Amino acid sequence: MTEHFDFLVIGGGSGGMAGARRAAEYGARTAIVEGDRLGGTCVNVGCVPKKMMWNAAHFADTLAIADDYGFALPDTTFDWASFKDARDAYILRLNGIYQRNLESSKVSLYTGWAQFDSTSTVRVGDQHLSADHILIATGGRPMVPKVPGADLAITSNGFFDLGSQPRRPLIIGAGYIATELAGTLNALGSDVTMALRKDILLRGFDITLRESVMDEMISAGINILTGVQMAAIVREENGLLAVQRQDGEQISGFDCIIYAIGRDPATDTLGLASTGIKPDNGGYLRTDEWQNTTVSGIYAVGDVTGRQALTPVAIAAARRLSDRLFGGQDEARLDYFNIPSVVFSHPPIGTVGLTEDEARQTYGHDNVKIYQNRFTDLFYSVAHRRVPTVVKLVVTGAQETVVGCHVVGRAADEMIQGFAVAIKMGATKADLDNTVAIHPTAAEELVTLR
Ligand code: FAD
Ligand code: NDP
Repeated sequence: MTEHFDFLVIGGGSGGMAGARRAAEYGARTAIVEGDRLGGTCVNVGCVPKKMMWNAAHFADTLAIADDYGFALPDTTFDWASFKDARDAYILRLNGIYQRNLESSKVSLYTGWAQFDSTSTVRVGDQHLSADHILIATGGRPMVPKVPGADLAITSNGFFDLGSQPRRPLIIGAGYIATELAGTLNALGSDVTMALRKDILLRGFDITLRESVMDEMISAGINILTGVQMAAIVREENGLLAVQRQDGEQISGFDCIIYAIGRDPATDTLGLASTGIKPDNGGYLRTDEWQNTTVSGIYAVGDVTGRQALTPVAIAAARRLSDRLFGGQDEARLDYFNIPSVVFSHPPIGTVGLTEDEARQTYGHDNVKIYQNRFTDLFYSVAHRRVPTVVKLVVTGAQETVVGCHVVGRAADEMIQGFAVAIKMGATKADLDNTVAIHPTAAEELVTLR
């Protein structure tokens, strides 16, 4: 027998959960299908455990200068295994909360992997479901390079399974995950090497952010190798791992190799052929601005769409879709412009809007002005190691409209959200200048730039 719903959501991650619950709030008969743990990437192997590790690293960074602040501390060795137990227990609690939220929202949960049978029917094991509207929110999975020995290394998923701290890890990649994991492991005391295939971290971010983070990571002791083209991964006689490079060189002596080279969308096992939807060459489901796929009644949100792969983006797109389909809000859709983002690097990055390069390309080189300041946060005034903060505004036009705001340094992660509101509202440099500063903070530098 086929069970029929108004709304069927495939994937119980950030986007799927949010869209399903919002639709059910409007009274839509809703079901969600999830093959793994509720909460998806963010809760189980993404933002949440990552931020908890970053918090642990933040502790380590603070302890490292505790004596400069007058604290004589006893041994402060980090116990990876016991922290992992605490972290896992918290995530298990979150899985339970997600399950209860579905129950209280009256969303039916089907556990298993969904496959389309037609444009309106889906199979989950031996259960058959049909719906007027179907949302694909299946997210993605870490990419693994096709090189000999690839299975000797792990991905970010494996990182969260590690029962003990890698002492000499190699991280391959240059994006968000590589930068975040490298900084965290280094702060926790691992001897970290990064292998970049090009010459700089975080391509696509503002040049000032990229350079500042890379300089700071190097000065914090991370060994960053550039121009590394990997040929194979091998286990050496001493049991440690090595990377053979295409140029014949070898980088050796690692107890753990982590790939962080991007993620593939989870579309290959959905049986999309029976719907007529064709993923693009990267496997992504391209949607229009209303999250419609090319087939009427089938929608996609989140990482699977190839847009900004961020939890709040998946959530916002899904909620607006449900507002439109079931909440009578015909114009509801996510505006993907000026989406803020944080990289939990060491030091962290907060960024919103155009990079300097993008602004010059968009408005013309001479129509863009940069206001920037580099300083040492008061927090480091007595510390033996000083980490700089850089704040940068990218402005354009006679009104000096702020089209980009970029911060790297202590607390940048908490600072950028408020500035993102102002920039989304079209703030000018004068608006920021007219805002009275809060002293002494690092954020005040953004309203006192000259
Ligand atoms: P997901 O959350 O991945 O959910 C998809 C779900 O669909 C999964 O549970 C999967 O099991 C399920 N599924 C897949 N196929 C099927 C099927 N056929 N049938 C049934 N179920 C299926 N973003 C941030 O905003 N901030 C961060 O700090 C951050 N940190 C991150 C750190 C890491 C290490 C990683 C990997 C990602 C991070 N992200 C972060 C990105 C964020 O996790 C994703 O953008 C977000 O989870 C995407 O949500 P989604 O709903 O599209 O997919
Ligand atoms: P990213 O897309 O951020 O970065 C991957 C980088 O790895 C590429 O940009 C590329 O850099 C490099 N790379 C690609 N292929 C190879 C290869 N074969 N060998 C070596 N290097 C390679 O992907 P991540 O996996 O880091 O993260 C996935 C997504 O998850 C992010 O884009 C982000 O949207 C999200 N995320 C968000 C976080 C946050 O909000 N704080 C944290 C973590 C993830 P180059 O071309 O310069 O070599």
